[in-house]
Amino acid sequence: MDGSFTSELAQELSAPLLERFTRYVRVDTQSDRAHALDRIPSSDNQLELARMLVSELRDAGLQDAELDDQGVVMATLPGDDSSSAHPVIGLVAHMDTSPDASGEGVEPIVHRGYDGSVIVLPKGSTRLDPDSMPALRGALGHDVITSSGDTLLGADDKAGVAEIVTAVAYLAAHPELPRPTIRVAFTPDEEVGQGGHRLSLERFGADCAYTLDGSDIGGLQDETFSADEATVTVTGVDIHPGTATGKMVNALRIAAEIVAALPSDRLTPETTSGREGFLHPFEFTGTAGQASVSFILRDFDEQALRAHADVLRRTAEEVAAREPRARVEVEIREQYRNMREALDRVPDVVAAGEAAIRAEGLQPVKEAIRGGTDGSILTERGLPTPNLFTGGHEFHSTREWASLQEMSAAAAMIVRLAGIWASGELSVGGGAPLAGASR
Ligand SMILES: [Zn+2]
Repeated sequence: MDGSFTSELAQELSAPLLERFTRYVRVDTQSDRAHALDRIPSSDNQLELARMLVSELRDAGLQDAELDDQGVVMATLPGDDSSSAHPVIGLVAHMDTSPDASGEGVEPIVHRGYDGSVIVLPKGSTRLDPDSMPALRGALGHDVITSSGDTLLGADDKAGVAEIVTAVAYLAAHPELPRPTIRVAFTPDEEVGQGGHRLSLERFGADCAYTLDGSDIGGLQDETFSADEATVTVTGVDIHPGTATGKMVNALRIAAEIVAALPSDRLTPETTSGREGFLHPFEFTGTAGQASVSFILRDFDEQALRAHADVLRRTAEEVAAREPRARVEVEIREQYRNMREALDRVPDVVAAGEAAIRAEGLQPVKEAIRGGTDGSILTERGLPTPNLFTGGHEFHSTREWASLQEMSAAAAMIVRLAGIWASGELSVGGGAPLAGASR
């Protein structure tokens, strides 16, 4: 066996995995924030990859592969003879890429047997420096895949998509291997916050699921931020500037005062880390007559999240009180909730993920993500869904890269996860195994 791989299985999966991955990343599937709510999917190009995946899953022997009216691809890998006694396991990855960097004309480059030096990409003066990217230093001797420098790579999350397709195709070709019934779902619009809402849980029919949307090898995330979005709208009095004396109330100015009055030395993304939350203005629009500022609020703790909302409301009220002719409204909407509490109630789901990572010869690294996944929304909707690593890194940027060896380890981990769920000792119920699960 080539010693850069975690197992013979991983090495065997690497060639079909690389072929799929480099094909998927060439399809531009960037989602569109402006149409996140009024179009399904937000960008038509995501459907191109969706259709590719449907026919590929069918070719692999998953007979019911289909694309639904929500832009979600679903398919079933039937379980073995004992599978009716086991939970149905879902595997989920997202097809879209981030709107934060171009996904058009992605030209993947495979750097075989990475030698540890700085990688300079041909376009966009993009450099990958192992001194500032510890994970890249860990990929010494790996086949490192990058973009050509002027686009993102799209490992987020086409690494996850390619790993799932490769693993279920392998299982389909090896009917002698034990497996539960596996449901596969590829979602659109995760990067614009909609992926987890698009998936019909009823049609999916899984008892628990795993997103393949993480990063570092061995990583398993069972905790995410709880997230709200807020809009502060200021209505002023607009009037011709030439005759505005004593009458104009400038909404832009008041909105700017609210932003300026918020804490800037704490409670911001740029001053927090680890388990600290924040309150982050990300869009400022308007005119002298009306202005609005959009915020995201994040924390691992829901009570702390509410406290951040209070800071925003109080600050807006204090600034508004200085100008009674202006109207200031603060609207707060829930986005997703930390999955931890819900996952703690079904401990076997995370335990099986950890066991699959160990079965691939790796040490599970459990961590909290300063963000959300499709799984945050799915878990909140009632489908327990932790997140597993994919071997992709530096997401949402032109420096994005992936290790073929780490990706292959992830695909092998999925095959092992199937065996673990088919062993009959685990349940999605917390206490006793599901009826008849122990043979
Ligand atoms: Zn992702």
